[in-house]
Amino acid sequence: MISRIFVSGLELSAYLGVYPHEQGTTQTIELYLEVETDDSQPPNGADCLDRTVDYDRIADTARSVVGARHFKLVETLAESIARRLLQLPATIAARVRVEKLDCVGGARSAGAEVVFHRTDVFCEVIDDEIPTVDTLSTDRSLLIIGGGVAGLTAAIWAHRLGHRALVVDPGPLLGGQLLAVHRSMPDIPAMPPLTGQQYRRRLLAHFVRSAGQHLPGRVISARCDSQPLVELEVPAGRVALRPSALLICSGLRRRQLRVAGEQEFFGRGILASASVDTFRFKDRRIVVIGGGDAALENALILADAGAKVTLCYRRAEPSARPQFATAVAQHPRITTEACCRVLGFDGAAELERVRIDRQGEQAMLACDGALVRIGWLPNSEFACESWRDAGGFLPVGPGFTVGNSTAVFAAGDITGPGYMSVVGSAGMAASATRAACRYLDAHATAEPPTP
Ligand SMILES: Cc1cc2nc3c(=O)[nH]c(=O)nc-3n(C[C@H](O)[C@H](O)[C@H](O)COP(=O)(O)OP(=O)(O)OC[C@H]3O[C@@H](n4cnc5c(N)ncnc54)[C@H](O)[C@@H]3O)c2cc1C
Repeated sequence: MISRIFVSGLELSAYLGVYPHEQGTTQTIELYLEVETDDSQPPNGADCLDRTVDYDRIADTARSVVGARHFKLVETLAESIARRLLQLPATIAARVRVEKLDCVGGARSAGAEVVFHRTDVFCEVIDDEIPTVDTLSTDRSLLIIGGGVAGLTAAIWAHRLGHRALVVDPGPLLGGQLLAVHRSMPDIPAMPPLTGQQYRRRLLAHFVRSAGQHLPGRVISARCDSQPLVELEVPAGRVALRPSALLICSGLRRRQLRVAGEQEFFGRGILASASVDTFRFKDRRIVVIGGGDAALENALILADAGAKVTLCYRRAEPSARPQFATAVAQHPRITTEACCRVLGFDGAAELERVRIDRQGEQAMLACDGALVRIGWLPNSEFACESWRDAGGFLPVGPGFTVGNSTAVFAAGDITGPGYMSVVGSAGMAASATRAACRYLDAHATAEPPTP
């Protein structure tokens, strides 16, 4: 039997809104909260209060979310409450309506309503639910460097294969490049098209369900003699670890142009991100530099937000996935500069022009902003020299080991797979973890890691 349990007209004070007058001050909101429970399953089958979802618990859950922080949008607040309600026992769906009182002239209230089903989010968590550790437990013998798709998948597989793994990543957010994928990814098998954030939340929940743990820290050196030796910078200082096996999934970071004005105008016209507060780009002239996925995706985000975008890339055709190239070619607010090399950024207090070389001729592109998305570099500076190829990637052999080591493995984009993809990183991580766990099983007497 399905039951709907609701609390209506719950009035709370909330920090909510985007306008200046809404900052640092509370306003009254009214909530309607409803959870759908499946009474055919324990614990709700028993007729006793402590085994069901009672009204106070629903209201307290909402209170704790509302009181936790400032929310810009009522939708975000409603979603956060609904996600938290879905964690109550036997809850299969949650409906949350948030109404801001007296905010629209002539109306009692205005707001938003969301409905979430457990099947939508059963596998999603929010970041503060990820277990973190600040010291290393001695029962962990597989150390994973990097908390992107490959690293998180590796932790899931290690758990499945009977090993506990620790993921070290500077954070604060895990997910790696997924954090930069703002449009839906249409190519993940048997999944609806999800944005990087949506997919990341599912992956993180799977990681948490698989007893995954995050050690916030950056690896500064890694080598291997009889056993791997890893040096980390953690918030408390530096530590050296000797895991029994090491799996490197440290992925890629953004490449810079290294031209005049790039550092000077960063934050003064050169944008860090095009996906935050996109309304500010309406009618602005933005030069986007690069021909890969990230450049084209950002050009589309900016153009959709009303910007006039000039997309500059070095080759005759962009190298991005066809879905991006087609959308860019059809977009009325994007013009392209092919075979174009950026020479520098000019302006006074703020960026005003991008200097380019257009097939041998110098030209200026007047602009209000610029975004550089010209590819990625492997995060491998910490790795032993002999593991790296000329481009800095860590190529692996058939057993997913790097260099001559039998205890050091690598997976994901850091291996230089040619075509970077979520599925490729995850698949490779699964295979590499299997190889690492076989190694661990065969060396079960290896020393535990020492802090
Ligand atoms: C804009 C964009 C769109 C994309 N679209 C698609 C798509 O549609 N479909 C698709 O399949 N793929 C897509 N991709 C590619 C896909 O996102 C990546 O291939 C995949 O996420 C790579 O995962 P990874 O774990 O190998 O590496 P990364 O995601 O790069 O993760 C590496 C992790 O290692 C950590 N790290 C780095 N250095 C250190 C260190 N010294 N110590 C500790 N940790 C460290 C980083 O913090 C990071 O969390 C897209 C990528 C981008 C940027």
